Amino acid sequence: MIFADFPHRTRRLTRQVKVKDIAIGGGAPIVVQSMTNTDTADVATTVAQVVALAQAGSELVRVTVNSAEAAAAVPEISRQLARRGIGVPLVGDFHFNGHKLLNDFPECAAVLDKYRINPGNVGRGSRRDEQFAQLITLACHYGKPVRIGVNWGSLDQEVLARFMDDNARQADPASVDIVMRNALVASALESAALAEQLGLPGDRIILSCKVSGVQDLVVVYRDLAARCDYPLHLGLTEAGMGSKGIVASTAAMGILLQEGIGDTIRVSLTPEPHGDRTQEVVVAQEILQTMGLRAFTPMVTACPGCGRTTSTYFQELASRIQAYLRDNMPLWRIHYPGVEHLHVAVMGCVVNGPGESKLADIGISLPGSGERPVAPVYVDGEKTVTLKGDHIAEEFQAIVLEYVQHRYGLPQAKQAG
Ligand code: SF4
Repeated sequence: MIFADFPHRTRRLTRQVKVKDIAIGGGAPIVVQSMTNTDTADVATTVAQVVALAQAGSELVRVTVNSAEAAAAVPEISRQLARRGIGVPLVGDFHFNGHKLLNDFPECAAVLDKYRINPGNVGRGSRRDEQFAQLITLACHYGKPVRIGVNWGSLDQEVLARFMDDNARQADPASVDIVMRNALVASALESAALAEQLGLPGDRIILSCKVSGVQDLVVVYRDLAARCDYPLHLGLTEAGMGSKGIVASTAAMGILLQEGIGDTIRVSLTPEPHGDRTQEVVVAQEILQTMGLRAFTPMVTACPGCGRTTSTYFQELASRIQAYLRDNMPLWRIHYPGVEHLHVAVMGCVVNGPGESKLADIGISLPGSGERPVAPVYVDGEKTVTLKGDHIAEEFQAIVLEYVQHRYGLPQAKQAG
């Protein structure tokens, strides 16, 4: 599936911001990003998680920089990543004391590739503008792009109070929710205008306005998209755990991405305790890939199974193939350009098995209840072999690898895998 097949969807035109070597907006592919949840001052665990996120496919990784210890650790994190060949751009997330940390730790300010600033958490009263100006001046000095990231939970109280007061004077006041949404968008746009007045070029500004409700996010981003041409970082904040977080993020982002809104995305999942942080990267990629906006990893089509499936074997094979494809992608991405477009089908019986398998690049139709215990394999729409016995999984995996090497391999890389 390619975007050109769906002419009703047009991408919003924006300026383009470069974060190290990654382009955001201006027609560039939508960028997947993520954030660590380690203590940034703990260099070893933070490096390990950045490596895991980058290898999972995160194209930008954000770390919190919340203390002197964290700011002091950032240069060493950057050095260790470079030694491990991980060049993913690092973004520093600043709240409350960002102006001070960036000023006191120049090496941290220099090695970060982007700063995230929350205008609601920059400072209070007269300090707010002064500290915001310090942050922007430092971004200008170091030549860094900035995301002005407004958040529902930390909305600038002065902007909100101004909007509330204006609303109260209206003959027919709007609801508090509407006023908050308007204040959120205004906070982002006013902060961006101020940043430009302070000298930060417009092509170094990215905006976000994160909320935790699906409908709120849609309304807020439509408004923001209509009122500026900055690239937008899209994400539902505090999306939640497990399927709820995935569904809410997908529902909200799916609507906006379909309207061409969103230049970089993050899925803010709450992991299980000690859970795998890379899940948020996988979900973000799958949102984009299932919408036909980008391709990251070969896709596996599998039927849901029903009373015709005789055992869990077919679920196990589908899951095994999916894991095999994903685990191999860090190397395959290098050796087999284009492999991310591969389409594999693993089907449970003869009803839809041969049909779906023929539509995929490679498909296998496992035997359902009452069928002969054989599994025909289809390659490029043609039945090539019928597998049987105890090693169907291994043999099918070998067929997939051979296909990848043959179709996507560069001459010198036919043996990699
Ligand atoms: S392909 Fe067969 S096993 Fe899978 S859902 Fe359809 S009927 Fe059931």
